[in-house]
Amino acid sequence: MTKKRIALVVGGSRGIGKAIARELAGCGFDIWLTYKSNQEAAQSVRKDIEALKQQCELFSFDVSSHAETKNALADKCDETAPYAVVFNAGITRDNLLMWTTKEEWNDVIATNLNGFYNVMHVVLFSMLKEKQGRIIAISSTAGEVGQAGQVNYSASKAGLIGACKALAREVGKKNIYVNVVSPGFIETDMTKKIPHDKILPLIPLARVGSAEDVASIVGYLCSEKNMYIHGQVIGVNGGLAT
Ligand code: NDP
Repeated sequence: MTKKRIALVVGGSRGIGKAIARELAGCGFDIWLTYKSNQEAAQSVRKDIEALKQQCELFSFDVSSHAETKNALADKCDETAPYAVVFNAGITRDNLLMWTTKEEWNDVIATNLNGFYNVMHVVLFSMLKEKQGRIIAISSTAGEVGQAGQVNYSASKAGLIGACKALAREVGKKNIYVNVVSPGFIETDMTKKIPHDKILPLIPLARVGSAEDVASIVGYLCSEKNMYIHGQVIGVNGGLAT
Protein backbone atom coordinates (compact mmCIF):
# COMPACT_ATOMS: atom_id res chain seq x y z
CA MET A 1 0.00 0.00 0.00
CA THR A 2 1.37 3.45 -0.85
CA LYS A 3 1.95 5.88 2.03
CA LYS A 4 -0.76 8.46 2.72
CA ARG A 5 0.43 11.94 1.81
CA ILE A 6 0.53 14.65 4.47
CA ALA A 7 -0.02 18.36 3.95
CA LEU A 8 1.30 20.74 6.59
CA VAL A 9 -0.93 23.83 6.65
CA VAL A 10 0.71 26.55 8.72
CA GLY A 11 -1.95 28.92 10.04
CA GLY A 12 -4.84 26.61 9.18
CA SER A 13 -7.36 27.44 11.89
CA ARG A 14 -9.20 30.30 10.22
CA GLY A 15 -9.85 32.12 6.94
CA ILE A 16 -7.74 31.15 3.95
CA GLY A 17 -5.76 28.51 5.84
CA LYS A 18 -8.92 26.77 6.96
CA ALA A 19 -10.20 26.63 3.37
CA ILE A 20 -6.82 25.30 2.20
CA ALA A 21 -6.83 22.57 4.85
CA ARG A 22 -10.33 21.49 3.79
CA GLU A 23 -9.41 21.61 0.09
CA LEU A 24 -6.30 19.48 0.60
CA ALA A 25 -8.23 17.01 2.76
CA GLY A 26 -10.76 16.82 -0.08
CA CYS A 27 -7.85 15.97 -2.39
CA GLY A 28 -6.93 13.03 -0.15
CA PHE A 29 -4.22 14.49 2.09
CA ASP A 30 -3.97 13.91 5.82
CA ILE A 31 -3.44 17.29 7.44
CA TRP A 32 -1.00 18.63 9.99
CA LEU A 33 -2.75 21.83 10.95
CA THR A 34 -0.96 24.57 12.86
CA TYR A 35 -2.32 27.63 14.61
CA LYS A 36 -1.16 30.14 17.18
CA SER A 37 -3.76 30.23 19.93
CA ASN A 38 -7.32 29.80 18.61
CA GLN A 39 -7.83 26.23 19.74
CA GLU A 40 -11.59 26.25 19.29
CA ALA A 41 -11.26 27.26 15.63
CA ALA A 42 -8.54 24.66 15.04
CA GLN A 43 -10.64 21.89 16.58
CA SER A 44 -13.55 22.83 14.39
CA VAL A 45 -11.37 22.52 11.26
CA ARG A 46 -10.15 19.15 12.51
CA LYS A 47 -13.78 17.98 12.68
CA ASP A 48 -14.36 19.14 9.10
CA ILE A 49 -11.31 17.20 7.95
CA GLU A 50 -12.28 14.06 9.83
CA ALA A 51 -15.73 14.32 8.23
CA LEU A 52 -13.87 14.09 4.91
CA LYS A 53 -12.36 10.81 6.23
CA GLN A 54 -8.84 12.22 6.50
CA GLN A 55 -6.70 12.45 9.60
CA CYS A 56 -5.87 15.80 11.15
CA GLU A 57 -3.24 16.50 13.78
CA LEU A 58 -3.16 19.90 15.50
CA PHE A 59 -0.05 21.86 16.49
CA SER A 60 -0.14 25.10 18.44
CA PHE A 61 2.94 27.31 18.26
CA ASP A 62 4.06 30.79 17.31
CA VAL A 63 5.78 30.67 13.90
CA SER A 64 7.78 33.77 14.77
CA SER A 65 9.73 31.66 17.29
CA HIS A 66 12.30 29.29 15.80
CA ALA A 67 12.48 27.37 19.08
CA GLU A 68 8.70 26.86 19.29
CA THR A 69 8.52 25.84 15.64
CA LYS A 70 11.34 23.33 16.09
CA ASN A 71 9.81 21.90 19.27
CA ALA A 72 6.48 21.40 17.55
CA LEU A 73 7.63 19.93 14.23
CA ALA A 74 11.17 18.54 14.32
CA ASP A 75 10.36 15.12 15.83
CA LYS A 76 7.33 14.69 13.56
CA CYS A 77 9.45 15.39 10.49
CA ASP A 78 12.10 12.92 11.63
CA GLU A 79 9.36 10.26 11.43
CA THR A 80 7.53 11.40 8.29
CA ALA A 81 8.09 14.08 5.71
CA PRO A 82 5.08 16.14 4.73
CA TYR A 83 4.50 16.01 0.97
CA ALA A 84 3.10 19.53 0.87
CA VAL A 85 3.80 22.56 3.03
CA VAL A 86 1.57 25.61 2.80
CA PHE A 87 2.94 28.60 4.67
CA ASN A 88 -0.18 30.69 5.23
CA ALA A 89 0.26 32.26 8.70
CA GLY A 90 0.27 36.02 8.51
CA ILE A 91 -0.66 39.16 10.42
CA THR A 92 -1.10 42.85 9.75
CA ARG A 93 -0.14 45.81 11.95
CA ASP A 94 -1.18 48.63 9.62
CA ASN A 95 0.12 52.17 9.92
CA LEU A 96 1.70 54.80 7.72
CA LEU A 97 5.46 54.24 7.82
CA MET A 98 5.85 57.62 9.52
CA TRP A 99 3.92 56.28 12.52
CA THR A 100 4.92 52.63 12.37
CA THR A 101 6.53 51.56 15.64
CA LYS A 102 9.52 49.26 15.78
CA GLU A 103 7.23 46.68 17.38
CA GLU A 104 4.68 46.88 14.52
CA TRP A 105 7.49 46.49 12.00
CA ASN A 106 9.19 43.63 13.83
CA ASP A 107 6.00 41.68 14.62
CA VAL A 108 4.93 41.57 10.98
CA ILE A 109 8.37 40.61 9.64
CA ALA A 110 8.82 38.04 12.42
CA THR A 111 5.56 36.24 11.68
CA ASN A 112 5.12 36.66 7.94
CA LEU A 113 8.73 36.30 6.76
CA ASN A 114 10.87 34.86 9.56
CA GLY A 115 8.05 32.36 10.12
CA PHE A 116 8.65 30.98 6.63
CA TYR A 117 12.34 30.46 7.43
CA ASN A 118 11.50 28.91 10.81
CA VAL A 119 9.11 26.38 9.30
CA MET A 120 11.12 25.52 6.20
CA HIS A 121 14.38 25.26 8.15
CA VAL A 122 12.80 22.57 10.32
CA VAL A 123 10.84 20.73 7.61
CA LEU A 124 12.89 20.94 4.40
CA PHE A 125 15.51 18.28 5.16
CA SER A 126 12.83 15.61 5.51
CA MET A 127 11.33 16.62 2.15
CA LEU A 128 14.72 16.62 0.43
CA LYS A 129 15.27 13.03 1.58
CA GLU A 130 11.95 12.02 -0.03
CA LYS A 131 12.92 13.78 -3.28
CA GLN A 132 9.40 15.02 -3.81
CA GLY A 133 7.05 17.65 -2.53
CA ARG A 134 5.26 20.96 -2.89
CA ILE A 135 5.89 24.22 -1.07
CA ILE A 136 3.41 27.07 -1.35
CA ALA A 137 3.71 30.42 0.41
CA ILE A 138 0.73 32.72 0.69
CA SER A 139 1.92 36.22 -0.17
CA SER A 140 -0.35 39.15 -1.08
CA THR A 141 -1.04 41.65 -3.83
CA ALA A 142 0.50 44.13 -1.35
CA GLY A 143 3.80 42.27 -1.74
CA GLU A 144 3.64 42.59 -5.53
CA VAL A 145 2.52 46.19 -5.99
CA GLY A 146 2.83 47.76 -2.50
CA GLN A 147 0.03 49.11 -0.33
CA ALA A 148 0.02 52.47 1.45
CA GLY A 149 -0.36 52.01 5.20
CA GLN A 150 1.18 48.54 4.90
CA VAL A 151 4.88 49.13 4.32
CA ASN A 152 5.77 46.48 6.91
CA TYR A 153 3.25 43.96 5.52
CA SER A 154 4.19 44.69 1.87
CA ALA A 155 7.88 44.19 2.72
CA SER A 156 7.18 40.87 4.44
CA LYS A 157 5.07 39.60 1.54
CA ALA A 158 7.57 40.78 -1.11
CA GLY A 159 10.23 39.01 0.96
CA LEU A 160 8.28 35.77 0.74
CA ILE A 161 8.21 36.08 -3.05
CA GLY A 162 12.01 36.52 -3.19
CA ALA A 163 12.52 33.67 -0.74
CA CYS A 164 10.35 31.28 -2.76
CA LYS A 165 11.90 32.21 -6.09
CA ALA A 166 15.35 31.51 -4.64
CA LEU A 167 14.22 28.30 -2.91
CA ALA A 168 12.69 27.12 -6.18
CA ARG A 169 16.17 27.31 -7.71
CA GLU A 170 17.65 25.37 -4.78
CA VAL A 171 15.22 22.47 -4.62
CA GLY A 172 13.72 22.08 -8.11
CA LYS A 173 16.26 19.36 -8.97
CA LYS A 174 15.02 17.41 -5.96
CA ASN A 175 11.53 17.32 -7.46
CA ILE A 176 10.20 19.83 -4.92
CA TYR A 177 7.99 22.43 -6.56
CA VAL A 178 7.90 25.88 -4.93
CA ASN A 179 5.30 28.49 -5.77
CA VAL A 180 3.66 31.57 -4.31
CA VAL A 181 -0.06 32.28 -4.26
CA SER A 182 -0.80 35.96 -3.97
CA PRO A 183 -4.37 36.83 -2.95
CA GLY A 184 -6.05 40.21 -3.38
CA PHE A 185 -8.96 41.15 -1.11
CA ILE A 186 -10.36 37.99 0.46
CA GLU A 187 -13.23 37.95 2.92
CA THR A 188 -11.74 36.77 6.26
CA ASP A 189 -11.25 38.02 9.82
CA MET A 190 -8.18 39.94 8.58
CA THR A 191 -10.19 42.10 6.18
CA LYS A 192 -13.55 42.39 7.95
CA LYS A 193 -12.98 46.04 8.88
CA ILE A 194 -12.25 47.13 5.28
CA PRO A 195 -15.40 48.69 3.78
CA HIS A 196 -16.51 46.88 0.61
CA ASP A 197 -17.67 50.08 -1.11
CA LYS A 198 -14.07 51.36 -1.10
CA ILE A 199 -12.60 48.18 -2.53
CA LEU A 200 -15.14 46.99 -5.08
CA PRO A 201 -14.53 49.74 -7.66
CA LEU A 202 -10.89 48.60 -7.80
CA ILE A 203 -11.70 44.97 -8.63
CA PRO A 204 -12.52 44.15 -12.29
CA LEU A 205 -14.46 41.03 -11.29
CA ALA A 206 -16.54 43.30 -9.01
CA ARG A 207 -16.50 41.04 -5.99
CA VAL A 208 -14.31 40.36 -3.01
CA GLY A 209 -12.67 36.92 -3.13
CA SER A 210 -13.53 33.98 -0.94
CA ALA A 211 -11.07 31.79 0.95
CA GLU A 212 -12.16 28.94 -1.34
CA ASP A 213 -11.07 30.99 -4.38
CA VAL A 214 -7.54 30.84 -2.99
CA ALA A 215 -7.74 27.28 -1.72
CA SER A 216 -8.64 25.82 -5.12
CA ILE A 217 -5.41 27.01 -6.76
CA VAL A 218 -3.39 25.77 -3.78
CA GLY A 219 -5.09 22.39 -4.22
CA TYR A 220 -4.10 22.39 -7.89
CA LEU A 221 -0.49 23.37 -7.19
CA CYS A 222 -0.18 20.60 -4.59
CA SER A 223 -1.59 18.01 -6.99
CA GLU A 224 0.13 16.04 -9.71
CA LYS A 225 -1.90 18.01 -12.24
CA ASN A 226 0.73 20.68 -11.71
CA MET A 227 3.53 19.28 -13.76
CA TYR A 228 5.59 22.33 -14.71
CA ILE A 229 4.57 25.39 -12.66
CA HIS A 230 7.56 26.16 -10.45
CA GLY A 231 9.02 29.36 -9.00
CA GLN A 232 5.91 31.34 -9.96
CA VAL A 233 3.67 33.90 -8.31
CA ILE A 234 0.01 33.16 -9.01
CA GLY A 235 -2.29 36.12 -8.36
CA VAL A 236 -5.80 35.36 -7.07
CA ASN A 237 -7.17 38.85 -7.03
CA GLY A 238 -10.13 39.26 -9.41
CA GLY A 239 -7.95 41.38 -11.69
CA LEU A 240 -6.99 43.90 -8.99
CA ALA A 241 -3.34 43.62 -10.03
CA THR A 242 -2.06 42.25 -13.31
P1 NDP B 1 -6.67 35.15 9.41
O1 NDP B 1 -6.28 36.25 10.35
O2 NDP B 1 -8.11 34.86 9.18
O3 NDP B 1 -5.94 33.77 9.88
C1 NDP B 1 -4.58 33.79 10.16
C2 NDP B 1 -4.10 32.38 10.47
O4 NDP B 1 -2.69 32.44 10.78
C3 NDP B 1 -4.75 31.77 11.71
O5 NDP B 1 -4.78 30.37 11.54
C4 NDP B 1 -3.78 32.15 12.84
O6 NDP B 1 -3.86 31.28 13.98
C5 NDP B 1 -2.45 31.97 12.12
N1 NDP B 1 -1.38 32.78 12.72
C6 NDP B 1 -1.33 34.12 12.81
N2 NDP B 1 -0.19 34.48 13.45
C7 NDP B 1 0.46 33.34 13.76
C8 NDP B 1 1.67 33.04 14.44
N3 NDP B 1 2.47 34.02 14.94
N4 NDP B 1 2.03 31.76 14.61
C9 NDP B 1 1.24 30.77 14.13
N5 NDP B 1 0.09 30.96 13.48
C10 NDP B 1 -0.29 32.24 13.30
O7 NDP B 1 -5.91 35.49 8.06
P2 NDP B 1 -6.38 35.29 6.52
O8 NDP B 1 -7.00 33.98 6.35
O9 NDP B 1 -7.07 36.50 6.07
O10 NDP B 1 -4.95 35.32 5.80
C11 NDP B 1 -4.19 34.15 5.60
C12 NDP B 1 -2.93 34.53 4.84
O11 NDP B 1 -3.28 35.13 3.60
C13 NDP B 1 -2.05 35.55 5.58
O12 NDP B 1 -0.70 35.25 5.34
C14 NDP B 1 -2.42 36.85 4.92
O13 NDP B 1 -1.38 37.78 5.00
C15 NDP B 1 -2.66 36.40 3.49
N6 NDP B 1 -3.51 37.27 2.72
C16 NDP B 1 -4.80 37.55 3.13
C17 NDP B 1 -5.60 38.38 2.38
C18 NDP B 1 -7.01 38.71 2.75
O14 NDP B 1 -7.60 39.54 2.06
N7 NDP B 1 -7.58 38.11 3.78
C19 NDP B 1 -5.08 39.01 1.16
C20 NDP B 1 -3.73 38.66 0.83
C21 NDP B 1 -2.99 37.83 1.59
P3 NDP B 1 -4.91 31.61 15.20
O15 NDP B 1 -6.29 31.23 14.66
O16 NDP B 1 -4.49 30.76 16.33
O17 NDP B 1 -4.80 33.08 15.47
